[in-house]
Amino acid sequence: MPSPRFRVAICGGGVGGLTLAVSLSRYPDIVVDVYEAAQSFREVGAGVGIWPRSFKVLQKLGPDFEQQILHYSSSGWTEEFVPSIKYRKSDQVIGTELFMLMTKGELMRFHRAHFHGVFLSHLPPSCTTHNAKRLKSYIQPCSKTSPITLAFTDGSTATCDILIGADGIKSAVRSFMLRELAEVVNPHAKQSVLSCINPVWSGVTAYRTLIRADKLRARCPGHRALLEPVQYLGKDAFFLVYPISHGQYVNFAGFTLQADLVDTAYEADAANLRPSFKGKANNEWVGEITAEQVIRPFKGFEGDAQSILKCVEGGTIWAVHTVKTLPATNFGRVALLGDAAHAMMPFQGAGAGQSIEDAYLLATVLGHKSTTLETIPRALAIYDKLRRPFSTDVALRSRLNGQICALQTNIPLHKVGDTMTKNWEWAWLTELDDDLEEAVRLVEDRSFNVI
Ligand SMILES: Cc1cc2nc3c(=O)[nH]c(=O)nc-3n(C[C@H](O)[C@H](O)[C@H](O)COP(=O)(O)OP(=O)(O)OC[C@H]3O[C@@H](n4cnc5c(N)ncnc54)[C@H](O)[C@@H]3O)c2cc1C
Repeated sequence: MPSPRFRVAICGGGVGGLTLAVSLSRYPDIVVDVYEAAQSFREVGAGVGIWPRSFKVLQKLGPDFEQQILHYSSSGWTEEFVPSIKYRKSDQVIGTELFMLMTKGELMRFHRAHFHGVFLSHLPPSCTTHNAKRLKSYIQPCSKTSPITLAFTDGSTATCDILIGADGIKSAVRSFMLRELAEVVNPHAKQSVLSCINPVWSGVTAYRTLIRADKLRARCPGHRALLEPVQYLGKDAFFLVYPISHGQYVNFAGFTLQADLVDTAYEADAANLRPSFKGKANNEWVGEITAEQVIRPFKGFEGDAQSILKCVEGGTIWAVHTVKTLPATNFGRVALLGDAAHAMMPFQGAGAGQSIEDAYLLATVLGHKSTTLETIPRALAIYDKLRRPFSTDVALRSRLNGQICALQTNIPLHKVGDTMTKNWEWAWLTELDDDLEEAVRLVEDRSFNVI
């Protein structure tokens, strides 16, 4: 076998990391190692939705991949304009229908474990996976061609030519990469760079669970949540439900928004979460809660919503954090993708989709035949130039969607539908293809220089 062009280490085997590994499989001269902190690759049991723009990227991973993904989707693939999510104003005894979100193509909905499983089953032979490998730190030498050394919490080490941090919101790679960057920026910018290391609390608390469809059906045959996505809006609190797993479950994602606490350091007391987390928290942001705790924020919601809430059997509570807009997602031969680069609020169902887009574009620039060990920093700079502005914009739009749903804006109720649609239509009216073409053009354009 000829010696590899270069060796990529992907730190983190979530959706973003695995999309990169599968996307790089088109380039057999690139060797890939995925280092995952958990004992096994897994996704927690809840739903995830993918919009047409990101689904079209998944289609590029091949017909077999697409077939499997479609098999697990709770909706078929179409490019027609279709009704996607029904919105109701529900914080009152009798709710009212606000609007139906019409989208070109549907929100493809999955059980997270199924979705993740398709990626795992498509990892190529050129990719080696390593479980129980939590990255502790790395050393990137000044020389452009000497290997980067990775150090793991179990005391072991490994080397690579490129390190990609796909290690989620608490990214260890981001922490070290921004420290490296802070050393080379002017002294005034240093603090601002370092301030992006730690995630900030968004003031949002999420309540997540899966509801057994048969239970809801027994209580309320033909309930709309068994058939279509519905979002029940109220002042400062709202929830979204949609069927997944071929109608076996209804995914429930509820939210409260505390506007005065946006971008603060999370404190359980301030968030009024301590009672909910007591004794059950598995880390400081996520905890298991009882059914009563899941439904409490939606007390007073209309009867249609109550039928769903009465079927809740418990769930998890999440203090939703975000990553501040980063000054760069690359430094030398290290780059970040997905939540490590831009963890955002979940109000456009876009975080996983954005990590998929990052990964595919990154694979395109790395896999291009003119990218060599020496030109890796340039390839990563092209990735940053094209992806960072886009994901930053999506994060802002997602935040606005949340404020609209929590009835925290001055938008009159009759204009909510139009405003939300305009803010969100990037997800079904635009494609990654233009950026992919531009990425290839920049890789081939020798006059493009890394500053
Ligand atoms: C309530 C809620 C609902 C959401 N709904 C949607 C939705 O419908 N659609 C959507 O697109 N997005 C949604 N998102 C966002 C989406 O879940 C994330 O954006 C997505 O999972 C990010 O993928 P990732 O691969 O970047 O990171 P992650 O999925 O977080 O994966 C990171 C991986 O890295 C591993 N890791 C961490 N640290 C280390 C280390 N030091 N060394 C090695 N491995 C490490 C972790 O174990 C994990 O496997 C939602 C988020 C929330 C909170």
